[in-house]
Amino acid sequence: MADTLTPEQRQKCMSRVKGKNTKPELALRSALHALGFRFRLHRRNLPGCPDIVLPKYRTVIFLHGCFWHQHPGCRKATIPISNYEFWLAKLRGNAGRDKQNTAILQRNGWRVLTVWECDLKCGEELIAKQLSRIIDTCRETGLDP
Ligand SMILES: [Zn+2]
Repeated sequence: MADTLTPEQRQKCMSRVKGKNTKPELALRSALHALGFRFRLHRRNLPGCPDIVLPKYRTVIFLHGCFWHQHPGCRKATIPISNYEFWLAKLRGNAGRDKQNTAILQRNGWRVLTVWECDLKCGEELIAKQLSRIIDTCRETGLDP
């Protein structure tokens, strides 16, 4: 798919995606907190440094930018045409590492949820949907918040 952003737009877009503590992420976290879930953020000692860690449920949540982590089937998951080879290697590399990290975590008994940027950015309804996914996954452990 053609990439139509100007370099400045791309720069802006990337810094927004890369930045942590974005609004939808905060909304998701405060909703989890309000429901009584206790979690930790950005644990560097876990593979891939998950964005949200729920130790009690042995569940980790990755909040992934659709471009940087190449959300399958997402219209944001395009490879820029300029410097194509560079981007292809970089973005494929990111996606490959994500898979590896997930596999390692699962082997160690963690439940792994991925929430994509586009699953959150379109408002409260989508955030609620992701929230109930997280709650369902945690409930499978037989524990309540
Ligand atoms: Zn997406």
